[in-house]
Amino acid sequence: MTTKYTRGSFQLMKSMNRSIILNMIREEGPISRAEIAKQTRLTPPTVSNIVKELINTQFVIETTQGMSKGGRKPTLLEINADQFYTLGIDVGTFHMKFVVTNLFGDLKDVTSLPIGNYPGNEDILSIMKQGIQDLLYSGKNDPDKFLGIGVGMHGIVDPEEGISLFAPSFQLRNIPIKEELEKDFNMIVKVENDARTMTLGEYWFGNGNDADNMVGVNVGNGIGAGMMIKGRLFHGENSIAGEIGHVTIDLSGPKCTCGNYGCLQTLAAGPAIAERARKELKTGKPSIIHELVDGDFEKVDGQVVYQAACEGDEFSIDLLNQTGRYLGIGLTNLIHTINPKRIIVGGGVSNAGDFLMKGIEETIQSRGLTDKAKETSIVLSKLGEHASAIGACVLVLEEFFVR
Ligand SMILES: [Zn+2]
Repeated sequence: MTTKYTRGSFQLMKSMNRSIILNMIREEGPISRAEIAKQTRLTPPTVSNIVKELINTQFVIETTQGMSKGGRKPTLLEINADQFYTLGIDVGTFHMKFVVTNLFGDLKDVTSLPIGNYPGNEDILSIMKQGIQDLLYSGKNDPDKFLGIGVGMHGIVDPEEGISLFAPSFQLRNIPIKEELEKDFNMIVKVENDARTMTLGEYWFGNGNDADNMVGVNVGNGIGAGMMIKGRLFHGENSIAGEIGHVTIDLSGPKCTCGNYGCLQTLAAGPAIAERARKELKTGKPSIIHELVDGDFEKVDGQVVYQAACEGDEFSIDLLNQTGRYLGIGLTNLIHTINPKRIIVGGGVSNAGDFLMKGIEETIQSRGLTDKAKETSIVLSKLGEHASAIGACVLVLEEFFVR
């Protein structure tokens, strides 16, 4: 007889050995009990007992698929990937995105809700609850399958308390996300900065490829970085670590929303690209953008610049190259500060990846301190527009699978 996993038995999963075995099955399955015992150095009876429990809770199933050297096929273990789901939320400036993933991070459902102008704390929470309800009770997904909810929120977040301390796009402070969602949905809720969730998502299911020292840079309406050091997200003393959008690149550059001048995001984030394009187009620079926006400069945004670049517009290609060089300076600073094995560039602006990459690589080549610094691997996000939301799901998975 099997026992259905319930949220109440979550504490059960906290056992270290159980969690390590579960993760080994996730990463290396299908795998035999004997191989698990060998790799973990736990005794075969211990492994057997824990595996029995994992099968009872339906996290793991037995399979006979796998290598067989004649004779009896060995019984192997694998993750019961679609038995449990997690729900991830990415809170952007204009939209909130909601995804449902299985235990392997595969997308099962997606929805998105607009965030109106000048929202209050209550508005943010009620949009979140609406999106969660839409996915839990649409009839498409069994609500009992959900292990928990992860939230990737822009700005400064207190991940321990699950509070958004400061969300600059909304100018809001102290939104008690964890407390509110746990109260309404009675499941685990984890909250983290969106650049960090993007990094976590790439580390588990994207282009991280087990680079234990890596950085994910989220370039959208602002710029933030999630820093993974020895396989763990680094927060700094007050969760401010990684705010590279506000690293000064040009002392006499444009004024930033933070009050300083020439921050990286005043030169390389989406709105900065649009602003530079507008300024130069007004001086009469030739570009097909004039036609694309019908002479209305208000319609110029990052997307239009990218579209023009794809159509071979030299003005737009140069502009994105220049943006890549600014980003390259920011990334070189990161390389010299924490020396990651890999940097993953994601977020809306990274859609223009190919045009940016040239400028980024040239800058790192010319400014990197040593050959090793210059060789730092720079890649685009694999999970693309869903990276932060999928990474938010990983916040929940981390509770079950100890790496
Ligand atoms: Zn700034």
